[in-house]
Amino acid sequence: MTDPRRIKPPMGPDNGWWWDMAAAGKLGIQRCAGCQTLRHPPTPMCGDCHSTQWDTVEASGAGTVCSYTVLTHPQFPGYQYPLIIILVDLAEGTRLTSQLVDCEPENVEFGLPVEMIIQEDPDGFKLPVFKPAGAA
Ligand SMILES: [Zn+2]
Repeated sequence: MTDPRRIKPPMGPDNGWWWDMAAAGKLGIQRCAGCQTLRHPPTPMCGDCHSTQWDTVEASGAGTVCSYTVLTHPQFPGYQYPLIIILVDLAEGTRLTSQLVDCEPENVEFGLPVEMIIQEDPDGFKLPVFKPAGAA
């Protein structure tokens, strides 16, 4: 299991809402109110139309592995190694960097269907991560 020594992400006015959604068990995506473009990570301004107006949508949690890397070193306390870091193509059409759990490093591959689950640390901190779709 994870432990509370895990490094906490910085949270500010631009991304606090995303962590609030994660705490509620949801995977949020920022959506430009001007051109409806989805973006992640959260930013104050749309890179396409430069609008600073935005709202959020809740992702289905379904996606596929676009790219991945397996980390073995250096090892930070609070994480289990090897650590599989994935770039996920979300079904909604945007990408997200996350962690793949419940999967052996030799079984991860490009295009692997994945689904979001909420990982809860012992201190109650919740983080959206992914597991192979359909896996128990
Ligand atoms: Zn826009």
